[in-house]
Amino acid sequence: MKGSAMYRFKPQSQVILLVICSVFVFSCSTVPVTGRKQLSLVPQSEMLAMSTQEYSSFLKQNKLSSDQKATSLVRAVGGKIQGAVERYFREKGMSDQLNGYKWEFNLVDSKEVNAWCMPGGKVVVYTGILPVTKDDNGLAVVMGHEIAHAVAQHGNERMSQELLAQYGGMALSEALASKPAETKQLWMSAFGAGVQVGALLPFSRTQETEADHLGLIFMAMAGYDPQGAVTFWQRMAQQSGGNAPPEFLSTHPSDQSRIEKIQGELPEAMKYYKH
Ligand SMILES: [Zn+2]
Repeated sequence: MKGSAMYRFKPQSQVILLVICSVFVFSCSTVPVTGRKQLSLVPQSEMLAMSTQEYSSFLKQNKLSSDQKATSLVRAVGGKIQGAVERYFREKGMSDQLNGYKWEFNLVDSKEVNAWCMPGGKVVVYTGILPVTKDDNGLAVVMGHEIAHAVAQHGNERMSQELLAQYGGMALSEALASKPAETKQLWMSAFGAGVQVGALLPFSRTQETEADHLGLIFMAMAGYDPQGAVTFWQRMAQQSGGNAPPEFLSTHPSDQSRIEKIQGELPEAMKYYKH
């Protein structure tokens, strides 16, 4: 699923983005840290409204874990990452990008090795990933990474690319009204929450690299040793050995180059880590 479909903006992306930016007003935003321009057709208010709705319907349709200890750990780690993200955005003078966020951290009982974060800080961790995260530091790697995707508005970018490709840039509300099932599926896929592995759109390599980078900084600011990211991704790679890749891996390609890239970013992340 790292094929060409998702990369239709890649080769000439800067040129195409320029054209799109001049056609649609307010259609582009800037990713924090990297400063990369991204396509952003859906207003934040619409993203947040749909997120609230889809998150609560997901929680109704799935079983929350009865493991109180593990649930508390997920909430504790999530709360610390949230604090780090808020501080990071405040220090960059970009707190308004987190307006309307209502953070939630839930642990869902499922064998899937997966986790995701919808806009507005709506996080789900699956119990199936806990044997790989092992402890709070491993959880901080996963949650830092997923939250980074959300605050870098990668879901909006993916939704925008698909709305443009499939519906010629139709507004989300219009797409919802005319094709509710397809639009909903698009949404769930955009956040890695879809159920069919084969149907999942992967985050692009650019987005993955950004999420790794930002996630390292967030976890370090939250007080977790960012060096744990290397061992976590090594465990994920081992976990996938032999069998079909778990959901989390199908949307998060794990390979040697990713680990090497993370190792290269560790010195920067360690500056945020207070011993
Ligand atoms: Zn990712």
